[in-house]
Amino acid sequence: MTTAALSPREVHRLALLLEGRCPSCAERLPGGVALEGSQCPRCDTSLRNPHGPLEDWYARRTSARMWVAVVLVGAGAFLTGMLPLVASLLVLAGLAWIRFTIIAPGTRLLSTGRRIVSQWTLRLGGGAFAAGCFIVIEALTLLSFLGMPLKAAIAAVQVAFAAWFSRRYLAWQTRREAARAGVAAWEWALVLGAAAALVLACAVLVVTLVWVKDALAAAMTAVDGGTLAK
Ligand SMILES: [Zn+2]
Repeated sequence: MTTAALSPREVHRLALLLEGRCPSCAERLPGGVALEGSQCPRCDTSLRNPHGPLEDWYARRTSARMWVAVVLVGAGAFLTGMLPLVASLLVLAGLAWIRFTIIAPGTRLLSTGRRIVSQWTLRLGGGAFAAGCFIVIEALTLLSFLGMPLKAAIAAVQVAFAAWFSRRYLAWQTRREAARAGVAAWEWALVLGAAAALVLACAVLVVTLVWVKDALAAAMTAVDGGTLAK
C-alpha cells in the first residue's frame, strides 16, 4: 500500500504517527507508545494505525529516501572524481542525510532506553564506517583517471550500505519495541563493539592519509623532474 491510496486526512494522521505524535491532538507521544498502538495519554485516541503496522510504513518511507541519497552521491562522485576529498565529503553528506531522514525519525518512535542504545550503536558504528569510507576513497585518488568511475560506484555503494544497515537495524528495533521487548545486555555490548571499531578505524585513517599525502608528493616530484629533464 502507498499513501496514494489514502485520503489527505489519512496521510496527515499517518505522518503525525510516524513523527511519534498523536494523530488527533498532535501531542508528542512517550517513546514506544506509537509503535505499541495503544492510546494517546492526553486525549485517549486509539493509536492503532488502520493501514497496517507503523514499522512497515517507516520502512517504506525510508526506502525512498535511501535511493535519493544513493543516486545523488553516485552522480556527484562521478562528476568530481578527479578532485581529492570531494567524493569523501559527498559520502559524509550522504551519511548526514541518512542521519536526519532515516535514523532520527526511527529513533523518535522508540522508548528512552532503546533509543539511547540505538542512537549510540548507529553513531559509533557510523563513525567507524565513515572513516573506512574515507580510507578506501582517498586511496583511490592515487589511481586518478582509472579511479573516477570506480570512486563514484564505491561512494554510491557506501551510502547504500549505510542506509540499508540503518534501515534494517531500526526496522528490527521498532519491531522489538512494538513487541515490548526489553533492551538486552548484548545490545549494550554492541555499543562497546562499535566504539572499539571507531577507535581502530580512526587510527587506520590517520596512517592512510599520511601515506596518500606522501605518495602524491612523490608523484608531483617525479612530474617536476620529468619536465626539467626536457
Ligand atoms: Zn492525543
